[in-house]
This record gives sequence, structure tokens and C-alpha cells, in this order.
Amino acid sequence: MNAEAEATRLLREADIRVTVPRILIFGYLLSTKTHPTCEQIYNSLKDTNPSLSLASVYNVTDKLAEAKLIKQITAPDGTRHYDGVTKFHGHFYCLDCRNFFDISCKTADFLDELPGAEILNCEVTARGYCPKCAAASSGGKIRRNK
Ligand SMILES: [Zn+2]
Ligand SMILES: [Zn+2]
Repeated sequence: MNAEAEATRLLREADIRVTVPRILIFGYLLSTKTHPTCEQIYNSLKDTNPSLSLASVYNVTDKLAEAKLIKQITAPDGTRHYDGVTKFHGHFYCLDCRNFFDISCKTADFLDELPGAEILNCEVTARGYCPKCAAASSGGKIRRNK
């Protein structure tokens, strides 16, 4: 099933009116792992969808996040990013390129210390430098022999 068909199905299932911008934006978020901001979503879709406006990207992401069909994650600098994967997972935030990456993480692991507890809400975000940025900065600072 393609991402737009999947988006349509999930919107219907959640009882949310199916509109072209919703299918477009939700479908895009289901098909990417880049955790884009509204501006990035808009920039990726505007060339093939000239009628789309940045304002409608803001409206649609708000609506989808409210319905818990997508997740909103806030970067340390306050920028809001969106994730089409709503199943629990952790994030790694790169302080250099300011992108979010998925890391695997199981809430079950947290319950070793508190057996029987029930987790309702949990967010795991690691911060640092992604492999690409870490390599670029050490390459610039450290002169390697050989
Ligand atoms: Zn990076
Ligand atoms: Zn994610």
C-alpha cells in the first residue's frame, strides 16, 4: 500500500475528514524518516503541489498531532518537528545539523526497577553529534598520522 492510500485509510479510521492537503502531508510523513519541520514539509511538497500553502501545513500538522496520528517533537532550540511513526521509540538529536534520528528503545526495559508500574507517557531523547557531523568535526580538528 502506498503512503497516500495508507494516510487515507488512517484518516478514515480516526474519523477525520479526508482532504487533499491532509492526505498529502500525512502521506509524506508516513514515507519519510527525517522528522521534518513545517517549513521542510512545505518545501518538499510545494513544487509538485503549487496550491499548498505553508499555513495549511501548520493547520494540518496541528490537526494530525491532536488526533495522535503523528507525533510532534520539539528540538532544544524550540523548533517543532513531526514524526509519522507513533509507535514508541527514542530520538537522537544532532546539535550540529539539528536533525532528529530514530533510536530503538523499549519502555519494557524501564520497568525492570518498578515491576507492575504502568507507563502512560515517556520520551527519550539523546543529544549529541550524529555520525556524519561527528566525523566532519573530528576530521577538521584532529590531524591523523598516516
Ligand atoms: Zn548531524
Ligand atoms: Zn522518530
